[in-house]
Amino acid sequence: MENLPLASKNNHPDNTVISLNGLSIGAKEIVMIAGPCAVEDLETLRVIGKSLKSLGIKILRGGAFKPRTSPYSFQGLGQLGLKYLAEVKKEFNLLITTEVMQLEDIKEVSKVADILQVGSRHMQNYPLLKALGKIKKPILLKRGMMASISELLMSAEYILKEGNSQVILCERGIRSFSEFTRFTLDLSAVPILKKITHLPVIIDPSHASGCWDLIEPLSKGALACGADGLLIEIHPNPEKSLSDGEQSLKLEKFKRIFKELKRISKALKRNII
Ligand code: PEP
Ligand code: MN
Repeated sequence: MENLPLASKNNHPDNTVISLNGLSIGAKEIVMIAGPCAVEDLETLRVIGKSLKSLGIKILRGGAFKPRTSPYSFQGLGQLGLKYLAEVKKEFNLLITTEVMQLEDIKEVSKVADILQVGSRHMQNYPLLKALGKIKKPILLKRGMMASISELLMSAEYILKEGNSQVILCERGIRSFSEFTRFTLDLSAVPILKKITHLPVIIDPSHASGCWDLIEPLSKGALACGADGLLIEIHPNPEKSLSDGEQSLKLEKFKRIFKELKRISKALKRNII
């Protein structure tokens, strides 16, 4: 294991707990972060925000700046997407997670985001990590799809080194021999990271699997492995979604799964919110 003075448990035996508006990430509670892949329009985002509110879920996620593999795919609404996130945040009193892809956007994204996401494709964008180390908001750092656990921790170390101690690690699937899934969810990353680092660890079964019908079993597995949270894509009408529709859960299905996850959390002596 590489030298990790800030990310490892050696010098920091107590787990990092990130507090946001009465919500704690990395403590006993399991945190649900859900929303559309991309912010598409205000009305769709409002429907999703309302649904989260009704379930008592506090964090809405949605991309305004989208890192798309193809330059011809929908790239996100950009500034307009941030505006819609701000409106829905206010209307339903939610916290917002959204991705930041480049240095120039950090200031604008920080105005609406309570948690700034670094996507898989940017895990090793070192200038971005250094800049995010200088802000005072939590960073959700996704594991690169071809990155090792040590490399993920080194990227976290970049943020911590600049003074930002609020880093959440996210396993979102890695490249392997998967034939039936988009990536391969490395569930073993959860207990391994928990052993090495004090940082909260969450699981994204949506990008890992690419299939809406795998979200429930993978989420259950994530909780059993000790994840501190889940990041799940949902959409009122996945067939019409502008990105990642195949992996997005319909709101009714998500509601049912969330109830099921509540039961499992209880059995684990935790609570999902
Ligand atoms: C996302 O969360 O919408 C996303 C693009 O995920 P990833 O960076 O893990 O591919
Ligand atoms: Mn997505």
